[in-house]
Amino acid sequence: MLLNPVISKLSNKLVVLASASPRRLEILTNAGLRFEVVPSWFKETLDKSLFKTPYQYAVETAKQKALEVAQRMPFKHLKTPDIVIGADTVVTIDGLILEKPTDKQDAYRMLSRLSGKEHSVFTGVAIVLCHEQNGSEIEYKVVDFFEETKVKFADLSEEMLWEYINSGEPMDKAGGYGIQALGGMLVEYVHGDFLNVVGFPLNHFCKQLGVIFNSPPESPALKIKREDSRASDGSRSVVNSLSKCVTNGEFELQETNNGKGASQKSTQKQNVMRSECAKFDRKDVPHSIMDLIDGFKVSKTLFTASKLKVFDVLNSSNGLTLEEIAGQINASVFGTERLLDAAVSVGLLERVKHQDDGHAVYRNTEQARQFLVSDSPLSLHAYILHCDGIVWPLFSHLEDAVKEGTSQHERAFGVMNKDMFQDVYYSQDNVKMRFMNAMHSIVNVTGKDVATAFDLSSYKTACDIGGCTGAMAYQFTEAHPGLSVTVFDLPQVIDMRRHFQPKAHHDRVSFVAGDFFKDDLPKADLYILARILHDWSDEKVHALLTKLSKVCTPGCGLLLSEILLDQERRRPSRAVLQALSMTEGKQRSAAGYIDLLEKHGFIVKQIKYTGNLLDAILFIKEGPNDKRTLLAGSSASIETAELV
Ligand code: SAM
Repeated sequence: MLLNPVISKLSNKLVVLASASPRRLEILTNAGLRFEVVPSWFKETLDKSLFKTPYQYAVETAKQKALEVAQRMPFKHLKTPDIVIGADTVVTIDGLILEKPTDKQDAYRMLSRLSGKEHSVFTGVAIVLCHEQNGSEIEYKVVDFFEETKVKFADLSEEMLWEYINSGEPMDKAGGYGIQALGGMLVEYVHGDFLNVVGFPLNHFCKQLGVIFNSPPESPALKIKREDSRASDGSRSVVNSLSKCVTNGEFELQETNNGKGASQKSTQKQNVMRSECAKFDRKDVPHSIMDLIDGFKVSKTLFTASKLKVFDVLNSSNGLTLEEIAGQINASVFGTERLLDAAVSVGLLERVKHQDDGHAVYRNTEQARQFLVSDSPLSLHAYILHCDGIVWPLFSHLEDAVKEGTSQHERAFGVMNKDMFQDVYYSQDNVKMRFMNAMHSIVNVTGKDVATAFDLSSYKTACDIGGCTGAMAYQFTEAHPGLSVTVFDLPQVIDMRRHFQPKAHHDRVSFVAGDFFKDDLPKADLYILARILHDWSDEKVHALLTKLSKVCTPGCGLLLSEILLDQERRRPSRAVLQALSMTEGKQRSAAGYIDLLEKHGFIVKQIKYTGNLLDAILFIKEGPNDKRTLLAGSSASIETAELV
């Protein structure tokens, strides 16, 4: 990969995205960038008439957004980022800049203006490089650029326009459409970078990073810097700094007096810099492979810190010293220091100077506070303990699993029963509780997005098959006031339900114990199958779906929630990797699940890629007299399903 080495060079930097856009977040996350999100407070209120061109407006807005965050963080977050990325996307047509519509009428005006015509999408991007000087003053350098993509809309009928507007999609998007979702259907062609239209020109961004971090003295970066002019690819550089390589592979920013500095350096110094840069920039250093090799160390650092309750201990204070933490987690100072430093280096903790006495103290990052502290509402603590206790031992037998093609539960835990859910090992209270806690914590993070994925107002009763602690059922009843949910699970699981009952009384959630392969399923007009089918072979899935098909009357709904693989079965890699330790099940794509369900008379209605940990598909049970015949092949079904 050409661009990954640049991204990997940022792995030890505090990179901040000054945007709340989930689309930008997804694009940069998919590119492998590690960053924090700190949405900018800068209001997009610059006077457009002051700018000669739309891209100047977008670039200036991006710059102001990024600078606002870069300047706020040292005071509000008590840390200085290394890099802040700001972006602003505008749609322009006939010399007009279209931003986000203010209401439906505004969206209508925008979309009818775009109908049948070609328009331009500009994203301005600002990369702010922050450099702390003498521990107090902070120097900010801005590199900015823009990318233009041409998009042509098809002729849109009034009906299409209003259907799209009523979907709600236009409201938070520049120009009133989102090309990556329903809005894609309005588009006839795209010339240029597609991701630029989504909201972030990744390719140009990576090239720009390459210019900033890779450039030896006579590279184009320096040329841009010296000339301080418009580059031939349309990028505008206001770089008035130079990234200088030093022997330890860090970069240092150096003021160059509006680009004249480099030429003032002595030839000898430039030569030294050049050889240091050459050392740093060697393209044959396999950074991404080294990251993969070290992946297990990162996981185990997180598992150990969680198990020792480091994040809990730190949550009760605004920073503790090494000795205080070691004392509280009952561990050696020597070992604790290594663990804490590792956690700092992978971005789980921060090490800062205490305000009063200047001593180094450790504290949780924002992400740790939100997801790693054991009693936070979105805590993944229990899931992490499950990964450490169950998944880790299974992965240590991966070679055997691959050679034998079987689950390694027996080697890892002495589990003899083929159905692990029914094995004595899992029936031990502590193991069962750890598993249930893990399931519960994932639902806390993702359940709301699943429960609100579709309009379920026509359903009054639901049954959550394999509903475990009831976490999903509580999310569904909360999201749908007219819905009652019965949780159906094995007796030993149902026995433990009281441990997970929320404080607020939920009289619309009830529990029934049983085996979904053997016993009668409770009657309902919506069935929920959340993280059930991936655990089983096609044969077992067919057995379960045969039972469900019998109990479902025509019009009955079936809501499936799983991680949906893409068609190439490559992403999300989280799902592909999870399959390595599965007993007999497998991960499937939306098409794979639809294929299975269609065989049992369930017609796909809607598919929702939530952007959270689980996606969802809504099916409807077809009646015997329904005219519609099942579509052969699931890709055809996907096309007919509504993507929400
Ligand atoms: N649906 C829950 C969720 O999304 O968090 C739990 C998913 S968990 C992976 C699988 C659940 O299926 C467990 O709660 C397990 O006890 C239950 N289960 C497994 N085999 C079962 C069976 N034969 N009958 C009923 N429930 C079963």
